[in-house]
Amino acid sequence: MKTKLILIAAGLILLISVSFYLQSAHLDPVEQARQNPVEQARQSTAEQARQNTAEQVDSNKTIQKKGVKMKFKVVKSEEEWKKELTPEQFHVLREKGTERPFTGKYYKLNENGTYVCAACGNELFKSDTKFDSGCGWPSYFKPISDSAVVYQRDTSYGMVRTEVLCAKCGSHLGHVFDDGPDPTGLRYCINSVALGFERADSVKEGK
Ligand code: FE
Repeated sequence: MKTKLILIAAGLILLISVSFYLQSAHLDPVEQARQNPVEQARQSTAEQARQNTAEQVDSNKTIQKKGVKMKFKVVKSEEEWKKELTPEQFHVLREKGTERPFTGKYYKLNENGTYVCAACGNELFKSDTKFDSGCGWPSYFKPISDSAVVYQRDTSYGMVRTEVLCAKCGSHLGHVFDDGPDPTGLRYCINSVALGFERADSVKEGK
């Protein structure tokens, strides 16, 4: 009788252990990530960055709603811009154009340095935030600082997108999407022609 009880108890313990093992082995990757504290912290940083961008976009929408135009440090007439920029630069920067994908000179560039606005020289993105998104345009997961760019809601071409503008001169740079990599989860999809590049060893390209 005693042996039987011991056997039943041992069987139960074995059953419970196996059931726990199977449960943990079959967690899907998302669930496993959710239970991992490091992953939790990473996801919360990405979520925070997404919210910050959404708030910035919201505040710009509010400015637009009130009918107050965004003010920029560098203000030039479109005629002046036309004289200073190449026709392609003018089309993208001042007429919100888009260069053909996979054609831009910075799309594949993988050197240390800083990307600046081709119109006014404002520092915009660091090379260590650039990543290969495969989308055909230079992509970054964050700007060099929160004050480097401003955002505007763009409803052109039947899409709702968030346009990215240079905060110093208001020129169009590209768009930001929320399908980027960690740590922000954002993808700043920027036209090469809207950028200049300053190598870390100070050799300057563009303006
Ligand atoms: Fe600029």
